[in-house]
Amino acid sequence: MEDCIFCKIAAGDIPATRVYEDEYILAFPDIQPQRPVHILVIPKRHIPSLAHAGPGDQALLGRMLAVAHRIAADQGSPDGFRVIVNTGEIGGQEVMHLHMHIVGGQDPIGPMLKHQ
Ligand code: AMP
Ligand code: ZN
Repeated sequence: MEDCIFCKIAAGDIPATRVYEDEYILAFPDIQPQRPVHILVIPKRHIPSLAHAGPGDQALLGRMLAVAHRIAADQGSPDGFRVIVNTGEIGGQEVMHLHMHIVGGQDPIGPMLKHQ
């Protein structure tokens, strides 16, 4: 996908520190970290959002979740973390290439959602 910032990162056209990589997925630090540990995990293939994923993506999605603890621990959050997948306008998704946030650190992250 032209003009997709995360496709460009996956292709190596935009630099990012690759904290995990395999044939199908890539992880790199969020440019504006919201916690001491804040990593993004993306599929290398362009999928716009979780709403665009289907049964054929089960292995890929499972792979993203299955490496989360390893990445969190490697990055300094061994005792727990939170995974967030913002999806679509309602979910507050800003970059339209599926990505999973891993956030953590030494302190509890706090309530899951702020009260409206
Ligand atoms: P979301 O709101 O879930 O779409 O999150 C998009 C995230 O991508 C934000 O937390 C941004 O800080 C992050 N981001 C945008 N551009 C980059 C980049 N070039 N490298 C790393 N993270 C980025
Ligand atoms: Zn993309």
